[in-house]
Amino acid sequence: MNLILMGPPGAGKGTQAKRLEDGRGLIQLSTGDMLRATVESGSEVGQQAKAIMERGELVSDEIMIAMIRDRIQQPDCENGFILDGFPRTIAQAEALDEMLTKMDVRLDHVIEMKVDDGILVDRISGRFSCTSCGTGYHDRFQKLQKEGVCDNCGGTEFTRRKDDNAETVSSRLEAYHAQTAPLLPYYKEHGALKSVDGMADIDEVTRQIEAVLGAV
Ligand code: ADP
Ligand code: ADP
Ligand code: ZN
Repeated sequence: MNLILMGPPGAGKGTQAKRLEDGRGLIQLSTGDMLRATVESGSEVGQQAKAIMERGELVSDEIMIAMIRDRIQQPDCENGFILDGFPRTIAQAEALDEMLTKMDVRLDHVIEMKVDDGILVDRISGRFSCTSCGTGYHDRFQKLQKEGVCDNCGGTEFTRRKDDNAETVSSRLEAYHAQTAPLLPYYKEHGALKSVDGMADIDEVTRQIEAVLGAV
């Protein structure tokens, strides 16, 4: 099964994608994570992307399409993938359609996680993740079971994203509304769009997504 999780920054895409990876054996393709790895590598593309991401703007379609084209053709995607953070523009969606058609791969569901802008700043400013295994947490909404220790791997180092600050969040939300929200009518027309209530608690959102996907 192949799906797209759509929603504004902080909607819970990464959190739910991780659960679907564990529960259904799908693979999460997060373009944000891929970009952060590219930035870490210090390559020229990484340096360009770093500045754009820190401003909360979108990296060029050209770079993003090439990145997903490479990734989606790798053998581990054959059992099904979850796109998290891609596509973010109409041009990316069109390029995705074209590559999937060529690969003879079907997109089963596009799931929109609906969340009001007002709570996204809170979601994003409390977000942190385990440096070793990447599991995501929140200061108030998804606390560590034991202070200072990752529930998943026992790691004791945690990271906060540089772009998770109030100023950058407003540019990211602006980019979402201007460039990504137009994908909702696009996918509605293509017949694959379903919505879930991203304001509900994390377990309830999982239940709603599972209901869309149907039995395992
Ligand atoms: P996205 O990938 O869409 O940017 P994340 O999955 O990283 O969003 O979630 C943003 C933050 O909000 C994280 O700290 C996460 O723990 C928390 N979170 C995710 N889903 C919910 C939810 N349904 N209710 C409350 N907090 C949530
Ligand atoms: P979030 O889910 O919180 O919005 P991501 O980790 O998906 O954050 O993305 C972080 C940043 O990486 C974005 O603000 C943007 O600069 C860049 N980015 C990620 N995916 C894309 C994409 N498909 N197109 C353009 N820029 C992207
Ligand atoms: Zn961990």
